[in-house]
Amino acid sequence: MLTNLKELMRYAQEHSVAIGGFNGPTLESARASLEAAQELGMPLILQHAPVHEPFISLELAGKIMLALAEEATVPVCVHLDHGDSAETVMRAIRTGYTSVMYDASGKPFEQNLSETREIVRLAHSVNVSVEAELGNMPHNFRGEMTEYDPEAFYTVPQDAARFARETGVDALAISFGTVHGVYKAKPKLNFDIIRQVRAQTGGLPLVMHGGSGLSDEDYRTAIACGIRKINYYTYEALAGGRGIYDAVAQYPQGLYFHDAAMAATKAMREDVLRILRIFGGGGQ
Ligand SMILES: [Zn+2]
Repeated sequence: MLTNLKELMRYAQEHSVAIGGFNGPTLESARASLEAAQELGMPLILQHAPVHEPFISLELAGKIMLALAEEATVPVCVHLDHGDSAETVMRAIRTGYTSVMYDASGKPFEQNLSETREIVRLAHSVNVSVEAELGNMPHNFRGEMTEYDPEAFYTVPQDAARFARETGVDALAISFGTVHGVYKAKPKLNFDIIRQVRAQTGGLPLVMHGGSGLSDEDYRTAIACGIRKINYYTYEALAGGRGIYDAVAQYPQGLYFHDAAMAATKAMREDVLRILRIFGGGGQ
């Protein structure tokens, strides 16, 4: 069943868990995430990021995710990840997305606040939830970044208090040491940032981006500190790629594409099952 982010964040707060936000740039990845969530009976966020526009448009990805959400046996939010302009946000709302992220985190604080406040006003008028971002996270999709100082990107807890109060966002992505993409070295996470932002914002649901590749212990600590949504995709996609390598080895005479797609789906589903068990407070 289709729901919005606000409802899922309420569920996450009540159960002290994090809801997984998974990108669905292909039918296989969206189905793999949904099948895993259904197997565990856990709510799910399917999302589209503009960075995936070369593979699939916001509109087509949205329609596919909405169709999957409508027939799902668990609550599913269809969310725009990293909306970079009011126009992109409006395209998502018109398509039927139930939640949008408006990311002006690269802009000066006052501009981020005023633009986000306006997006929240418009989105809430049609029952669409809003996630925003404060602080910033570097990108390392293909391991191009070798060294960086995570402290330069940290969210300032006092800023978060004012930002939350004046924008009315439903969830806030914060920066405490995670990176988008692949980690070259063990990340240095500052969990105290999560605790302080949570305290300063009166318990606003907090979001972790760059959720691939952390240790199980790091996920659990982050959730215990107040993270309620975790974006996870890179390692799921890499698992799908490995599934195809295995299928190629298994069929040396030639591989049908639908068999390759099935192998990728199965591998991604296994990866998502493992991670959802951690996000949901379960075991391995
Ligand atoms: Zn992100």
